[in-house]
Amino acid sequence: MGNTRYIFVTGGVLSSVGKGIVSASIGLLLASRGYSVGAIKIDPYINVDAGTMNPYAHGEVFVTEDGGETDLDIGHYERFLGINLSKKHNITTGQIYLSVIMKERRGEYLGQTVQIIPHVTDEIKSRIREVARETGVDILVIEIGGTVGDIESLPFLEASRQMRLEEGFDRTLFIHVALAPELSTTGEQKTKPVQHSVQELRRIGIQPDIIVVRTRRPLESEARRKIALYATLPESFVFNSYDVDTIYRVPLILEEQGLGNVIVRRLGLEDREPDLHEWRWFVERLTNSSKVVRIAMVGKYTRLRDSYISIVEALKHAGAHLGLRPELVWIEATDIEEGNVDVEAALSDVDGAIVLPGFGKRGVEGKINAIRVLRERRIPTLGICFGLQLTVVEAARNILGLKGAHTTEVDPTTPYPVVDLLPEQKKVDKLGGTMRLGASPVRIVEGTLAYEIYKTTLIFERHRHRYEVNNKYLDLLESAGLKVSGWSPEELVEIIEYDRSIHPFYIGTQFHPEFKSRPLKPSPIFIGLLKAAAKIPI
Ligand code: GLN
Repeated sequence: MGNTRYIFVTGGVLSSVGKGIVSASIGLLLASRGYSVGAIKIDPYINVDAGTMNPYAHGEVFVTEDGGETDLDIGHYERFLGINLSKKHNITTGQIYLSVIMKERRGEYLGQTVQIIPHVTDEIKSRIREVARETGVDILVIEIGGTVGDIESLPFLEASRQMRLEEGFDRTLFIHVALAPELSTTGEQKTKPVQHSVQELRRIGIQPDIIVVRTRRPLESEARRKIALYATLPESFVFNSYDVDTIYRVPLILEEQGLGNVIVRRLGLEDREPDLHEWRWFVERLTNSSKVVRIAMVGKYTRLRDSYISIVEALKHAGAHLGLRPELVWIEATDIEEGNVDVEAALSDVDGAIVLPGFGKRGVEGKINAIRVLRERRIPTLGICFGLQLTVVEAARNILGLKGAHTTEVDPTTPYPVVDLLPEQKKVDKLGGTMRLGASPVRIVEGTLAYEIYKTTLIFERHRHRYEVNNKYLDLLESAGLKVSGWSPEELVEIIEYDRSIHPFYIGTQFHPEFKSRPLKPSPIFIGLLKAAAKIPI
């Protein structure tokens, strides 16, 4: 047995109570005490990974260094902990069943009846322990997605119950995060749903060690007393995560209540003074910077903001770094396309723009229209992935006059396929996990805007795409003022930019810079965009 301690985080009453942020915050409080921390997200759905899910159903698909298409909570963990996590940190029911069934077919369980207990639960435990073994972290936080009482999460809760037995009481911890709603008429905080969700946990054999109550306003002492009583816990083990101005403040309010110390002591670890110095600085800058820069967010899934969460967070990180407050102006590409929004008017008072990543036909003409306005008006712009590809389409059509130029993703019979399938993609027949994924090197050309932004000739950024700028059109594009300033090792286009005689700041990346942005280490290209938007020299 290794030395890792396991903290299981469960959720009660409702989904979306902020379990991911609480888990990430717990991780940060422990890391700030000098412990090495990892975090696993368990998703009880049957998809093998989040890659095949619509952002409307599940929010952003977060991409890890090693090319995992994961749940967006992995993004929160990476940002709060300032580390990279491998795809093994996102476990789904789909992965578990896939591997159990493959083992059964290979005859590894020969003679046995394959069952949820022990085969499925063993598979779950072995995956959790494998992460502990491979990373050797002191503490592994394991967030079990869904709400206690759901059918889907039962095998995971059962596996965590067994781990308590096998790893021992002082090496495992159960933290239950549950919502105490407030009645709008009386303002009273109601604790009954929390009590019931604790009972539900107990019914499956788990007694929570710590409860984090989610509330709108700070928890009243009477409510705390009741929850502690019904959960059979000392009041000092009931914590409160109330609504705050930014998710990045959550670790600070939990630390104030002493959560870090309680966890450390309960796990038999040495009590150390946390160093949250830089984090506090970041939160202060984030919430006190008052100079506003208005950034247009041109995309297709704008009605669910979680679809682009890493980009939104990356803007916050860069803003705090520069002492600027990015104000986001969401522009729905389908609205432009259907004529419900006048794109000229919508972009008339923004300081900068991001053309967001995306897939498929819907909204594309709206995006291309917006790109034309951003180019003509010389508005500082960053195009990410699909945003880069459509920038090329717009230039081909409107500057080079290549009528009908397109990406073959949207128009497979276009006369000018300026964006086309990556060569290795032509033979792909399955959709799950088959894009060009994960981090790879990008060589930056000196003397370009990209070089000024990154100040180095070699960067590693993460990818998630099937299509790619068609190199046959590069000379033509360059004659239109659009030149390549970043290359992949296979000579694929990674970065393009308009010549500065045409546009002061228009840059597109085939990679997704947002996935590597951290509160204390913002992504250079987001800093570049905000500087250009605020008219600060780069
Ligand atoms: N749909 C494009 C591709 O597959 C862009 C993907 C993206 O924006 N993430 O290449």
